[in-house]
Amino acid sequence: MAENPPLMVLCEREGIDKSFGCRVETVGLELDILGEPVRFQINVTDRHARLSEIVPFARALSTKLAMIVSDRLGAGGKTVSCYKGCTACCSYLVPLSIPEVFRLRQEVLAMQAEQGKSVLQSCLYAAKKILDERPEDSDINESTQTKSQISRLSRWYAGLRLPCPFLSNNICISYEQRPIACREHMVTGSAIFCDTQYSMPDGDRESSRIVQMPVSVLECFAELTAELEQSNVESVMLPLALPWAQENLERSVQTWPAVMMVEHFIKILKAAASKNSAVGTASN
Ligand code: SF4
Repeated sequence: MAENPPLMVLCEREGIDKSFGCRVETVGLELDILGEPVRFQINVTDRHARLSEIVPFARALSTKLAMIVSDRLGAGGKTVSCYKGCTACCSYLVPLSIPEVFRLRQEVLAMQAEQGKSVLQSCLYAAKKILDERPEDSDINESTQTKSQISRLSRWYAGLRLPCPFLSNNICISYEQRPIACREHMVTGSAIFCDTQYSMPDGDRESSRIVQMPVSVLECFAELTAELEQSNVESVMLPLALPWAQENLERSVQTWPAVMMVEHFIKILKAAASKNSAVGTASN
C-alpha cells in the first residue's frame, strides 16, 4: 500500500523527523509497565487526521509494549512462546477497533488483485459460517460487539476451526499489518495451549498461561474512538470487517486535530496502565 507521510511515530529523541512533510509536535508518554516506568516520545503532525491514520502508531506501540513485557518475563525466567511464524492462535476470533477496520479495508484494497480477492472470499466464507452456525442464544446479529460478547463468541468460533482469512500456507500474509489484538496476544509455556482442540494434562495447563498485558492498546484505542465519535465502545470481528466497513464508510471520513487525538489517547493509556498497575499491586 502506498503510504502517506506518517501522522505520528514513536521516536527515541526530540526533533523534526525527516519522514514528516510538515511541522511536528513532540508529545511524551510514560507508562508503568510491570512496576517500572517506560518512556516514549511521539512526533505528531499539526494537521487534522482521521482515526484510521493513527492505526500504524497504535500497532507500533502495541508491538513495543509486547516486546518489553516479553523481555521482562524472560528476565524473570518465563519463556514467551509467541514468535513470527507461529500461527497456533490464528483460528480465534480477532476483534478489531473501528479505525483498524477502515485501515484494513484500505490495505486489502491495496493488495494485488488475486490476493485481495482470496482474502475477501475467505472473509465471506467465515462470515457465512458465523451467521449460519451461530449459537441460538448468541447476540451475533449485530456486527459490532462488546468485549464480553467477543470473548464468548471467540471461544465458540475457535471450535469451528476456521483459519484466519489472512492465513495462507500457514503464514500470516499481513504480518506487518496484523491487528493489534494479534500483537497483544501472548502466552508463556507451550504454544499448544492456544489450540482449543488439544486436551492438556492439568500440569501442562498450569504451566501455560495467557499473559495479561499491563495496558491493552486495543481497548484504549476503542475507548478513544468511542469518546471522539460519542458512540459506544465497539469491536468488529475480523471476518465481518470488510462488509461492515463498506456499509459504514461515512464513519471513516471524520477528522480531528492529530495532536489533540494523541494527547487524548495518551490520557486513556495512562489511566488504564495506572488502573491495571493498582489492581496488580492489590492482588500481589
Ligand atoms: S491477522 Fe495474521 S496473526 Fe492475526 S490471526 Fe490472522 S493470520 Fe494470525
